[in-house]
Amino acid sequence: MIRTDIIIIGAGPVGLFAVFEAGLMKLRCHLIDVIANPGGQLSEIYPKKPIYDIPGYPTVLAGELVDNLMEQAKPFKPGFTLGERAEKIKKQKDGCFIVTTREGTEHIAPVVMIAGGLGSFEPRKPIIQNLTQFERKGVEFIVKEPDLFMGKKVFISGGGDSALDWAIFFANQSNTSVGLVHRSESFRAHKDSVEKIYKFKNEGKLELYTNAEVVGLKGKKVLSEIEIEQKNGNNKIVKVDFWLPLFGLSPKLGPIVDWDLEIEKNAIKVDNTIDYQTNIPGIFAIGDINTYPGKLKLILCGFHEATLAVQAAYKIINPEKKFTLKYTTVQGIQGFD
Ligand SMILES: Cc1cc2nc3c(=O)[nH]c(=O)nc-3n(C[C@H](O)[C@H](O)[C@H](O)COP(=O)(O)OP(=O)(O)OC[C@H]3O[C@@H](n4cnc5c(N)ncnc54)[C@H](O)[C@@H]3O)c2cc1C
Repeated sequence: MIRTDIIIIGAGPVGLFAVFEAGLMKLRCHLIDVIANPGGQLSEIYPKKPIYDIPGYPTVLAGELVDNLMEQAKPFKPGFTLGERAEKIKKQKDGCFIVTTREGTEHIAPVVMIAGGLGSFEPRKPIIQNLTQFERKGVEFIVKEPDLFMGKKVFISGGGDSALDWAIFFANQSNTSVGLVHRSESFRAHKDSVEKIYKFKNEGKLELYTNAEVVGLKGKKVLSEIEIEQKNGNNKIVKVDFWLPLFGLSPKLGPIVDWDLEIEKNAIKVDNTIDYQTNIPGIFAIGDINTYPGKLKLILCGFHEATLAVQAAYKIINPEKKFTLKYTTVQGIQGFD
């Protein structure tokens, strides 16, 4: 059981900034995210896009902002449960909440902050009849632990940044054999990545199939072969250890809708006149996932919500103590040992 002061569901920009604000008040945080990397939409949808409306940054790339938020949170040593979806929440007699992930990891804290953005990002799965038979038995939709694939034969499908980034990563590992399958000849991924893919192909470090799709999976207990259908009619059976269909992620509000929270237009209703608490005392909702009159889905607004929510969380966690707000220049950043 992971014990902390605040369980934050969602490691997007708003969840990450909440760690910093909580740390200033000597509260520890643990973040849960279904994605294997922190950053939410910024990492998953637009890491290379510039953002122009973060105060103090005339321009910053989304990926850089995530790196900076991680750096800012670092002194407060947040815990992370990544690659797991928060599935259930249960209130205990003492007022604490237990949040359990789909994978079974349990977390306990007196306060929960839902910073789930547009919802949990779920992988877009290809339509192949026996796909479920091989899920986690050779078919993986996210790369959580790259070590799992080292020394193996890995085939990746997809034409976006995630597919190409991982194909490049594995092509750079001398002990790992990698192939990339894409249904067209043009790629959505960054131009530099596409150039690298063709360079690796020419150097014999990567097998490339364009105008092609994986249409069949075979294996006894685990995946051992994929069938590649090519537009030129030369279908191929390839022996593999892993197939990674990386077709992007689509957000779903998911299990949160069953947590007895007041939901309006696919978002969680909060009281914005005080502290962004939901209808369940002790559960807050901050960032894109909440709604209230005048709500704006902007990073800046999520940062403000996180700051106020953490003040209220402090009172729940330390009912007998009074916290006096001091500027960070006065009190400094006193991280956790
Ligand atoms: C193309 C694009 C451009 C944008 N440009 C700007 C801009 O220039 N400026 C600006 O201010 N905003 C911009 N936005 C909006 C901005 O990205 C969002 O406001 C911001 O990402 C919200 O942050 P968040 O932390 O609330 O949620 P998110 O970034 O959505 O992160 C939420 C995280 O929660 C996780 N999660 C959800 N449910 C669960 C669960 N049950 N279990 C585990 N994990 C879960 C998700 O996987 C996700 O990682 C843009 C958005 C897009 C799509």
